[in-house]
Amino acid sequence: TELFIGRTQVEAKRQQYFYPCTQHFYRNSPQLVRGSMQYVYDELGKEYTDFFAGVSVVACGHCNPAITSRTIAQLQQLQHTTTVYLTQPAVDLAERLEEVLPGDLRRTFFVNSGSEANEGALLLARMHTGRKGFIALESGLHGRTNLTMSVTGLPMWRTDKYLDKDVVFIPRPYQEDLSLEEAASLSLESLERVLEEKGHTIAAMIVEPIQGNGGMIMPAPDYFRQVKVLLERYGVLLIADEIQTGFGRTGRMFAMEHYGVTADIVSMAKALGNGVPVAAFATTDEIALSLNRPSASTFGGNPVSAATALAVLDYIRDQQLPERAAQLGERLKAGLLELQQRYPAVISHVRGTGLMLGAELSGASADQAAQLTDRVLEAMKDHGYLIGKNGIGRNVLAFQPPLIITEADIDGMLGVLDSVLAEEDKTDGPL
Ligand code: PMP
Repeated sequence: TELFIGRTQVEAKRQQYFYPCTQHFYRNSPQLVRGSMQYVYDELGKEYTDFFAGVSVVACGHCNPAITSRTIAQLQQLQHTTTVYLTQPAVDLAERLEEVLPGDLRRTFFVNSGSEANEGALLLARMHTGRKGFIALESGLHGRTNLTMSVTGLPMWRTDKYLDKDVVFIPRPYQEDLSLEEAASLSLESLERVLEEKGHTIAAMIVEPIQGNGGMIMPAPDYFRQVKVLLERYGVLLIADEIQTGFGRTGRMFAMEHYGVTADIVSMAKALGNGVPVAAFATTDEIALSLNRPSASTFGGNPVSAATALAVLDYIRDQQLPERAAQLGERLKAGLLELQQRYPAVISHVRGTGLMLGAELSGASADQAAQLTDRVLEAMKDHGYLIGKNGIGRNVLAFQPPLIITEADIDGMLGVLDSVLAEEDKTDGPL
């Protein structure tokens, strides 16, 4: 432990040298110094079970030796070149992605982050259609670059007031007071109106198959199929942002598979590298032809990231992680639903599928719901469980553990959450 400076000193440096906007969930944020599969450790050796996985990133577990051994071997063999030369890991990875991607998605362009993958997907859609506009869903999140922030609906992530104006937002297929079917109809009617009015100016619609930061929003089963039919009528492409949902998390390799819909372009990041930066956008032979000007990324497809991603895909296949996520997700969701029944004044909704689940907390006001969420997160962290939060009102507990989590971890976490909620339930004052 002497190797590490204390958490208060790390916090002080952070406050002194990071941009002041840098935020974290906790009043008392732990300093994490080590990770091993579903566990992380602070500088004092305290163990935390990770139910957030760095927002769906570490799907195969922290520092999983089956993956890091191949990252290290590649680091020692050949670290970086440019795409001017031939290297095998990147082409092998593109081939493997073609195998796991649905439909005719055969071409992959490698970049380094989710934002960059979506930026590339949006550019590709413009080049392919010759049109400028985009349609996006309210409360979606697609990135921090200018164009990806322009299609981001969540107000808290729209920092720039000079965003691209050629973006139309339609209601998301989830409304607090409506059934999923009614909310889907409302959203589809709005989409149809936009397409009638200006479909010929729209290049693509970008969607998350399940909205992550929007609060684990999973539409009615038929919604995206109907979206695709409408878009095709107007020659508008569908971009599936699978950055948070991809690679097994929701119980399928890609979440669009739940709806039987194949998008024209799919963007991927996060879990593909299990913590090493690697991202990509994939499309069909035909659409790929439209990216007909020189385009290259310095680090996109570098051997270290590509070798890591290959190890990740092997591990997901060998350990059958999508199936595992589906099974364990059912157990976790059943547990959350049971807690909702026991604490109906605290948990208003449980949403999501596989190991991408959310529990929305309620309060007398939006502020109080957000404060309650923070208290629950803080208490869970003190008890050794890291959980995420998201949602428009920042009042949704987010459960996105590594897919290698065990039943015992889930049961243990649910037990502790039960006692934390019981404390809150009997606390005087507004919930
Ligand atoms: N799309 C989705 C659905 C995301 O969840 C995120 C990140 N939370 C992004 C895009 C942006 O990815 P990155 O931070 O790697 O740029």
